[in-house]
Amino acid sequence: MHEAHKRLRPGREREAFKKEPAKRRPAFTLIELMVVIGIIALLMVIAIPLIGRALEQARQADCASNLRQFSVAIMVYRNDRSNDPIPTPPWLSNLYPSYMTAPSSYICRTDRSRGREGSRPNGVFENDFDETDDTEFNPSGPTAYGRNPDIRRCSYMYEFSAAPCSWNWSSYLGTSLADVDRNADGVASWAEVKMYHMQNGDEWNKHQPYGESMFPMIRCFQHHAFKKVHTPEGLQAWTLNVAYAGNVFEAPLFWEYNFGPP
Ligand SMILES: [Zn+2]
Repeated sequence: MHEAHKRLRPGREREAFKKEPAKRRPAFTLIELMVVIGIIALLMVIAIPLIGRALEQARQADCASNLRQFSVAIMVYRNDRSNDPIPTPPWLSNLYPSYMTAPSSYICRTDRSRGREGSRPNGVFENDFDETDDTEFNPSGPTAYGRNPDIRRCSYMYEFSAAPCSWNWSSYLGTSLADVDRNADGVASWAEVKMYHMQNGDEWNKHQPYGESMFPMIRCFQHHAFKKVHTPEGLQAWTLNVAYAGNVFEAPLFWEYNFGPP
């Protein structure tokens, strides 16, 4: 009596019918699916380089902002020491923490090593000038020539460092130690060589002074894989720089080309 009553309830019958799996034709045929996959692949091929370029442009803007912070910091530092024989800081790391407040400003976001490999990414300089690395891995140790070990890593090349200059400056500048050694310690530091270079020129420009607004003081070589510029010697890495005068400017790897033919 009870069982029969249950079976006859119309609501139950409908529920049972709904739960039965429906037999349908597949939503996509194999060919339709492959066309859709093909279109998605094509869109990705188009979009990925565009996204990559947009991200790199954002990183370049961030790098320029780091460089402007260094520029202001060095201006203030130089103002405080205008009577010193060498008015520039020995290292960028010495600007921390009084003049530069954040260690993150020492890292260019394009630098995949996050400052570990210093300022000279592979494909640009190899191991040349590693004495200028403002990192704990400097060949002369983490406190080399007075650098501040609290800054462990740095993506930027500081042309005016206190490290002795390994560049073949004497023949290129056509001068000797007595002319460049501003603090008379018997050693030609990068700062001393570069100061002389800026004020007296070199073999390439026939010994004319270089302008302070296009003479690099800090350089970023990290963007070399993303951007090249035409020079008389072919395509070169694009670089972002702070000039001695404090302005941020772009230049080829050989910044001298910004001055045109000598
Ligand atoms: Zn950079």
